[in-house]
Amino acid sequence: MFVDSHCHLDKLDYQDLHQGIADVVAKAKAANVNELLSVGVTLDAFPNMIEMIEPFDNVYASCGVHPLDVESDFSFDLMRQYAQHPKVVAIGETGLDYHYQPETKPLQQQRFEQQVALAVELNKPLIIHTRNARQDTLDILRSGGAEKCGGVIHCFTEDLAFAEAAMELGFYISISGIVTFRQATELKEVVKALPLERLLIETDSPYLAPVPHRGKQNQPAYVVEVAAYIEQLKGAALSEVGRKTSENFKNLFLR
Ligand SMILES: [Zn+2]
Ligand SMILES: [Zn+2]
Repeated sequence: MFVDSHCHLDKLDYQDLHQGIADVVAKAKAANVNELLSVGVTLDAFPNMIEMIEPFDNVYASCGVHPLDVESDFSFDLMRQYAQHPKVVAIGETGLDYHYQPETKPLQQQRFEQQVALAVELNKPLIIHTRNARQDTLDILRSGGAEKCGGVIHCFTEDLAFAEAAMELGFYISISGIVTFRQATELKEVVKALPLERLLIETDSPYLAPVPHRGKQNQPAYVVEVAAYIEQLKGAALSEVGRKTSENFKNLFLR
């Protein structure tokens, strides 16, 4: 069995590709993907996403403001209120993305610090997005006391030293379909070096469809391709990759 630890179920194609979220969940189940975590990126979109996932016992949610969405409407009190919904198992995604929006750095840092504070207050794990901002990401996690709530570095594309620093803070490392891309040579080496005990798997659907689905819209069922690629890289059985990453998911988010 497998878990998709990071997807955006409110962003999938419900016009042509899927007949509603029940269809997406059924396709995942048919691929032996039994639990999904739908990740929030703005407060505006949160109520609709919760309404979509609420009927499904095996689908969880997170509440957060993405570093590339920091100019969306924000209120700390509203975020705190949303984050206490019983479906919410994590805060994020939050973090820093200096690659795509270096011009919003100060606001990204402020929102990130606020979300670290909320995660520590509510004792919910953090879902971190980081791009071209390694040192600042670690600094904010450390100064905010993020080791108290833990979390995950999602869609990991950093180096081994960053992974080790994050694991020292008690964080997990989540591997997406990027690992299946031919040019991701450094990431493949990092995955080989990381213990299965610290890994999660994700699709980040609708983005980043893994090989052999590249060019199509991604969906939770495809997380099995990520697990299969890790199986090859690490020489562990596919069932073991599935079992371990599912166990890690439970330990982090369903504690
Ligand atoms: Zn992200
Ligand atoms: Zn995401």
